[in-house]
Amino acid sequence: MGVAASLPYEEISPWVETPADVRGPLAEDLRSDVVVIGGGYTGLCAALALRAQGADVAVLEQDFAGAGASGRNAGHLSPTIGKDIPTLLRLFGRERAAGLVRFADASVEHTEEVIRKHGIDCDYAANGNILAGVHPKHEPRLRRAAQAAQGLGAGVRFLAEGEMRERGLPAAFTCGVLEACGGTLHPGRYVMGLRRAALAAGVRLFEGSALSELSAGPPAVARTARGSVTADFAILATNAYTAATGWKKRTIVPLGVSLLETEPLSDEQRAALEWQGGEGIYTAHETLENYRITAQGTLVSGSKLVRHAFGRRLPPGYAPETFRVIDAAFRERFPALRDLAVRRFWGGWIALTLDFLPALHVDGPKGNVLSGLGYCGHGVSQATLMGSMLAERVQGREHPWESALQRRRLSWPPEPLRWAGGKILNSVFTAMDRRTDRQIRALRG
Ligand SMILES: Cc1cc2nc3c(=O)[nH]c(=O)nc-3n(C[C@H](O)[C@H](O)[C@H](O)COP(=O)(O)OP(=O)(O)OC[C@H]3O[C@@H](n4cnc5c(N)ncnc54)[C@H](O)[C@@H]3O)c2cc1C
Repeated sequence: MGVAASLPYEEISPWVETPADVRGPLAEDLRSDVVVIGGGYTGLCAALALRAQGADVAVLEQDFAGAGASGRNAGHLSPTIGKDIPTLLRLFGRERAAGLVRFADASVEHTEEVIRKHGIDCDYAANGNILAGVHPKHEPRLRRAAQAAQGLGAGVRFLAEGEMRERGLPAAFTCGVLEACGGTLHPGRYVMGLRRAALAAGVRLFEGSALSELSAGPPAVARTARGSVTADFAILATNAYTAATGWKKRTIVPLGVSLLETEPLSDEQRAALEWQGGEGIYTAHETLENYRITAQGTLVSGSKLVRHAFGRRLPPGYAPETFRVIDAAFRERFPALRDLAVRRFWGGWIALTLDFLPALHVDGPKGNVLSGLGYCGHGVSQATLMGSMLAERVQGREHPWESALQRRRLSWPPEPLRWAGGKILNSVFTAMDRRTDRQIRALRG
């Protein structure tokens, strides 16, 4: 069936809608211990951890909490970190790379704990995820990657072609690295569960409250169109949106990422697919393709092409060219589902750092402006743990996992170099992936 001429598009995503109890905007001048800007996984988890320590917390969210990447993502809860393990080893050496791998595992375990603790029903299926090869050249690379990761203590295992078939994975996926910890979840239910827990814990949430200016003070003052919050600490939890706040302008580059959701698979399609294990899949392309089945029996897939814009702007969410590319890729990997219609496309923004790693930043004259960002598309787990790390920092303590992320941080160059560099990098990755896809088609004859 393919993509119709006018593409079905969700402004935010199919995972979330404006909550019935949406909170009103900030319309006064308040005092609180901590002001958090941004109501996604990072901001809500920081607010929850701070409330548990007795702090008074105000959260300012420009839309409704969950309207950012936390309510738009593909829902792979995974211990993936950095560009890949061999690159981590090259950049940081054995000991630091092992620390980062442990951090990534811990962030998945921590997220599972948060889901349990707050009783969040988010269709979490702990079936792991598979980094899948799609061309014979991927086999030696993934074998080496699995060995290197095992050497660093990661709970991964190489899956040869036979094992991929035994798991019922479509023939397009020729081998893989199984990440046993983690799985897939409903990202919208997860973030709305955090929102509910934060409100129940007494977090003062102001929605429709875009930050217009943050001054460090001390005390820090966060201003919106109709009010302000004065606080001992400010936490920027705005990830891909951060540059537009005027802070951390060269820390990350926001990239537009697109996803699609199909109609529910019929019983016959489910049976023909045989992939009943429920593992999430991402491919070994330079810019990965991701695939997963939801608890509602639909298939969600996407990425493959990322987009970036000049300066502080975000690239548009509606990206018909990219939508067509992810739709075509899905049909190529899943020929048995060639007639399955796409129900909707949508987009969101991830934050890319130069070394593909997240960071906790401490700024302001008294170290009173904190930020946690740069998850490079792996923030379901990492942003959740970052929330707790930020809360510890407010208390003047270093979270046990903070040291794993400490390193010499690289800044993106100023514009127009950043734009040019990003474009070159993106073009190189896209060209490499197109070549791989052409080679796959040639092999199929
Ligand atoms: C399409 C897509 C697919 C992804 N898939 C995966 C995946 O499968 N697995 C994975 O681990 N990660 C994935 N990610 C990444 C993951 O979603 C993010 O890393 C994570 O959600 C980041 O959480 P956050 O709270 O830091 O940011 P966000 O959820 O983006 O929250 C930031 C919030 O700040 C608000 N905000 C911004 N500016 C202001 C302002 N001026 N004033 C007030 N509020 C403001 C925004 O509205 C937003 O709600 C994906 C991301 C996208 C976009």
